Amino acid sequence: MKILTFSILLLFTTIIFISSCNDNNDDSSDDSNDSSTEVSTPIAAFDEFNTDGVVTSFDEDEITIDSDGFPNHTTPYWEETDSLYIEPVVAIAQTPGRIGSFRDRTFTLTVPSAPEIASSSTATGLGPIGISVTGVPIFNDTEGANRPIEEEIAETFDYAGAHVGPSGYHYHAESANVPENTALSHDDEKLLGIMADGFLIYGRREMDGSYPTDLDESGGHYGMTQHSDGEEFYHYHIINEYYFGTLIVLFGVDLQGTPNSIL
Ligand SMILES: [Zn+2]
Ligand SMILES: [Zn+2]
Repeated sequence: MKILTFSILLLFTTIIFISSCNDNNDDSSDDSNDSSTEVSTPIAAFDEFNTDGVVTSFDEDEITIDSDGFPNHTTPYWEETDSLYIEPVVAIAQTPGRIGSFRDRTFTLTVPSAPEIASSSTATGLGPIGISVTGVPIFNDTEGANRPIEEEIAETFDYAGAHVGPSGYHYHAESANVPENTALSHDDEKLLGIMADGFLIYGRREMDGSYPTDLDESGGHYGMTQHSDGEEFYHYHIINEYYFGTLIVLFGVDLQGTPNSIL
């Protein structure tokens, strides 16, 4: 009797085991059918961010970038007592205020790990529109409402293409090619940072040294970068056009994705 009970039990167990195997098979084939064509932002790109000031956290479908907003490079906008203070190299004038007076300000941006192109593009506003690899916020091509960057504003830019405004130190323009500039993208393929819509932005060139020829009106295209391990994904480039004189703005165009707030 005991043997019979055991045999029946074994039979049931076998049936349950087989049916659960079938369930698993069905599940896995469903998963592959559901897999979408979205391409995730290459995680390797975040190794380029300044770990002294920027903390990047990843969860399943979001990436959060927290920054103290301070540059990890020299500028005359540091307090004179700071070790990264230098005399102006390219700035003719300086805006009031120094980086040290904005100690409490931080910037947080949360984006989808696989951002998508939106059905319509979005104009950028005043304030941060992206976070650079140094942690410094990226601003657009205006300085105050309806005031595009003019010559007298550009004269206040340090070699990093930055100055101090009411909300702190920020980049507007591509960095200058001076010996003091040892890290920032200047007419090259380096990663500049991440925009509010979650798309990465690179320097003016592709990783093979050429200028991209298939950019959309936002400076974006699908292609590989040094971070994407052979995979094509949508990213921006600094558009290789002079705004005026020798000034190249970082991002004076619309975002192609859905912008997320930078708080
Ligand atoms: Zn500004
Ligand atoms: Zn590219």
